[in-house]
Amino acid sequence: MSAPRLLIDLEKLHHNALTLVQRLAVDSISVTGVTKAALGAPEIGKVLLRAGVESLAGSRIENLESMCRGGVPASRTLIRSPVLSQVDRVVAHADVSFNTELDTISALSLAADRAGRTHGLILMVELGDLREGIMPNDLEAAARQVLHLPNIALKGIGTNLACRSGVSPDTNNMAVLSSLADSIEASCGTMLDIVSGGNSANIQWALSGTDTGRINNLRLGESILLGREPLQCQAIDGLHTDGITLVAEVIETKVKPSHPWGEIAQAAFGEPLPSIDRGDIRKTIFAIGHQDTDHYGLLAPQGIKILGASSDHLIVDSSRYHENLTVGSEVTFGLNYSALLRAMTSPFVAKVMMKSSTPRLPAETVQSCRA
Ligand SMILES: *Cc1c(COP(=O)(O)O)cnc(C)c1O
Repeated sequence: MSAPRLLIDLEKLHHNALTLVQRLAVDSISVTGVTKAALGAPEIGKVLLRAGVESLAGSRIENLESMCRGGVPASRTLIRSPVLSQVDRVVAHADVSFNTELDTISALSLAADRAGRTHGLILMVELGDLREGIMPNDLEAAARQVLHLPNIALKGIGTNLACRSGVSPDTNNMAVLSSLADSIEASCGTMLDIVSGGNSANIQWALSGTDTGRINNLRLGESILLGREPLQCQAIDGLHTDGITLVAEVIETKVKPSHPWGEIAQAAFGEPLPSIDRGDIRKTIFAIGHQDTDHYGLLAPQGIKILGASSDHLIVDSSRYHENLTVGSEVTFGLNYSALLRAMTSPFVAKVMMKSSTPRLPAETVQSCRA
């Protein structure tokens, strides 16, 4: 089989999604399955639906379109603000989109009219992470304007934390979102079906036994695909962290000095990393690089130490690996979100969907996250 390849264990992803859907249902929180790191792969979308997610979401319209083409029978949500030049595609392939700009919402209204449809809308609120969102004080005015637009249905409000600045979801900011939902309903005389509290970073908060208030939806990607919550990069109890793994192939393995020699200038990707002279080591090169993954986010099996990468080469110290690697040997790596996203996006990495639960990574590989 060709390498590099991502091994995607659909049964493990199903288990992760089902477990989260069931745990959150206790607090009446529905799950929107986010397949953006999987580029909207229809096979994964179908598995998440089978596990009970309420709808599927992606951040780019292309990914929602590929779920459409793949015959995934789901309600589809676009979770990044629509690109103004793509509003017709958004109306055609997303039932709901997340928005913060009235210019875009007006264009969606016109596009929905042209298509003879009603487009659902979630207004995103800024609660401190400083990525997308309407400032809380401006939310009510925005909601009023949206309610006047034809072919647009205001479905609810949402927020997104812990993505840009690492602001954690907590009792305070979640209570602010709940009270914004209450005040908009009271002042605008409308019901908000969805109060979407956030992403995988909200799981600890949601499952902590705290009062979840009006929050009745979370949008989950990483926690389903990798079994981890992103705040502390911890494995979530009872979930598989090796539902997706990456297999790479050896193209060179030699005993070489650990230290470079010659005049040192810039390397291909900026400053060369400082290296300590440890004498000769077994250096092994895998045919995978920056163009395929984020090597800082790869979790190597015990005995393999990642030394660095360039566009097409991953260089490791395999001196302590239990197996004698030769040219053509394959090694399975775990991934963090960044490594997964890039590998999924690389046309050079094959994606292999499996129904069985074959290669399990050794426990020590899957527990930790990134260096
Ligand atoms: C990416 C994203 C998510 C999903 O985040 P995970 O950490 O993968 O669960 C949810 N909401 C928005 C707006 C996003 O951009």
